[in-house]
Amino acid sequence: MTARVGILGGGQLGMMLAASLFKLGADVSLYDPDPRSPARHRFASVTTAAWTDRAALARFFAEVDVVTYEFENVDVSVIAEVAGHRVFRPGLSVLTTTQDRLAEKRLCRERGLPHARFEAASSPDELREVGRAFGFPFIVKTARGGYDGKGQARVVDEASLERATAELFADGAARRSLILEELVPFSLEASCIVARDAAGRAEVFPIFENHHEHHVLDWTLVPARLPEPVAETIREIALEAARGMDVVGLLTTELFVAPSAATTGGRVVGEHAVFVNEFAPRPHNSGHVTRTATTLSQFDALARILCDLPLTTPRLVNDGAFVMGNLLGDLWLDRGAARLAFDAWARHPEVLDVMLYGKHEARAGRKMGHFVAHAASPSRAIDAVAAFRRDLSRPVG
Ligand code: AMP
Repeated sequence: MTARVGILGGGQLGMMLAASLFKLGADVSLYDPDPRSPARHRFASVTTAAWTDRAALARFFAEVDVVTYEFENVDVSVIAEVAGHRVFRPGLSVLTTTQDRLAEKRLCRERGLPHARFEAASSPDELREVGRAFGFPFIVKTARGGYDGKGQARVVDEASLERATAELFADGAARRSLILEELVPFSLEASCIVARDAAGRAEVFPIFENHHEHHVLDWTLVPARLPEPVAETIREIALEAARGMDVVGLLTTELFVAPSAATTGGRVVGEHAVFVNEFAPRPHNSGHVTRTATTLSQFDALARILCDLPLTTPRLVNDGAFVMGNLLGDLWLDRGAARLAFDAWARHPEVLDVMLYGKHEARAGRKMGHFVAHAASPSRAIDAVAAFRRDLSRPVG
């Protein structure tokens, strides 16, 4: 029987998931308020309606067998109202936890998953008071809604505490749920994707090493440059989290690896300590590398779970190193109205794949596309990212 799958969100993640579902013969419908979403100009069955439009959402749910989502910030109470008996994957409780950083860290505490020390605060006075008691330096984040470094500030002294308080309450709100976290002096950021089916069978993807610029993912390297015992510990943590939340679908765990001598609260492996940063119950930007680097992509894995088809183990397709580089709107803006020089690809045989999302407007920090390169060593793969981007934005002619 053909599966009818609904995807909430028609951005690049929803679009790439739809492509994987089409490979399995599924009927796919997408829902996105933006009439110019990437899905809208590629696929026929896209509902354009607001996230608060209960009637449109109810119709959307009624026409499919199973619904998933490409981002966490959908209103759980609205979904609970409109979902009826439709299967929602990963479920509402997973979504409730992962859309709130405090709930995530509390889950870590309950489940024995390693995490940085944290505290909650919700008013300007409380932030000042709790912050001083917590001790500098720390990082303060809005518990809900922040992404790519938005809604967070580093606090190192009284002056930056005042600045952070002013910024986080700039809209005049009297209360806002905040989390204060100890700053982890990490040497490496990693992510680990677990795909888990309805019978509880799980597959773990190779571990990615992630590098951010201005809080936005810049590149992802696989395999991550980690000693095997640390990699094993990361896989264990990611699996414990997916099982602990009873995820059916994908769970991406973002982690920090730090020197054990300089930290407390991490899961210690020799000289290293591993901390959970946060979770995403969906395909992840770092996982784009799996479209080219592994035998099963994150999108294919989720598509199989949604269609009740068995998973296979995602393995690297080649030796050496794969890297995914994001293409942000800045590259387009830097070149004014002119297009990027994609003919540069011909001079970069190490670049195996380029994907552009078809977004209509380039903005600073906006994810417009990505590419994947392969090289004999990690350092060569990382060098390839800068070299390809440089050539893309070279003056034409
Ligand atoms: P997040 O939005 O929580 O993923 O945070 C964005 C980035 O801020 C992370 O990728 C880290 O580079 C940094 N960051 C977040 N939390 C911490 C922390 N507790 N200690 C050190 N760096 C952090």
